[in-house]
Amino acid sequence: MEKLLKEILENNKKYCDNGEVAHYIPALASQDKRSLGISLVDLKSNKIFNQGDTDKFFTLQSISKIFTLILALQDKGAEYVFSKVGMEPTGDPFNSIIKLETINPSKPLNPMINAGAIAISSMIKGESNQHKIERVIDFFEPILGRRLSVNQKVFESERNTGHRNRATAYFLKDVGILSGEVEEILDFYFMHCSLDVTCKDIAYLGGFLANQGKTINTEEQLVSQSITQIAKSFMVTCGMYNSSGEFAIKVGIPAKSGVGGGVMAVSPNHYGIGIWGPALDEKGNSIAGVKMLEDLSTKLDLSIF
Ligand code: GLN
Repeated sequence: MEKLLKEILENNKKYCDNGEVAHYIPALASQDKRSLGISLVDLKSNKIFNQGDTDKFFTLQSISKIFTLILALQDKGAEYVFSKVGMEPTGDPFNSIIKLETINPSKPLNPMINAGAIAISSMIKGESNQHKIERVIDFFEPILGRRLSVNQKVFESERNTGHRNRATAYFLKDVGILSGEVEEILDFYFMHCSLDVTCKDIAYLGGFLANQGKTINTEEQLVSQSITQIAKSFMVTCGMYNSSGEFAIKVGIPAKSGVGGGVMAVSPNHYGIGIWGPALDEKGNSIAGVKMLEDLSTKLDLSIF
């Protein structure tokens, strides 16, 4: 496995030059676009295999949307969650606002686009944002064996420049999807997007989903199988934004990307895969990361379809 990952990393490193790091969040613009890492957790042996930049920190960004969705489903139940946020892919960029106005009654089409994730953020229980983010960090602790922390620089950068998210959130407030104070909800959304992780961490998170919501070492069922299935279904239909269709054809496994360059991928019952490559394509996905997943899927015959 070690050898395969090395070969895949080396063959795809060149694609880093074809992409750009996210500039719209100023604190992400300073990332090195030549960084690339891949980690794979094997459920059978409980072993992790790593190649490249697998210990460097980057922010979770949209990968957090999977886990806030899980918490919201646990906190509020599926009926409530899906009364406010839909289940359909949009075909639009992740930060698009356009369909919010054209759908009647107005509601975000799914929890993976920013509008849906902001609505989901408003559903997480907690007395304050500090309490809410502690709950998210508590959730991750048994899976990762450590406590994550918020990258303050990235958090403040997003908070100062997240005008489009702000516009989206105020629109959602206007149409009755958001209850609560808009700026508070946005702050919590920016906080969970700004959690610092490594490539290894997201391989373990993927492994947790591959293991149907059970921790890999202790087999503790932290999330029900039905909620885990909902999360993975959204990863297939909407996890790679408006590239999800092409990704399903070329790679064929549930995955979720973030503009920090991370991709968490899941080979159900087999592997959790973590990718980090901050050079992004025009849709916001790690450009070399997606190529590595294509190769890995071909070599290990991973497609679920
Ligand atoms: N925090 C980012 C934003 O709201 C998350 C987007 C992403 O990773 N696609 O724009």
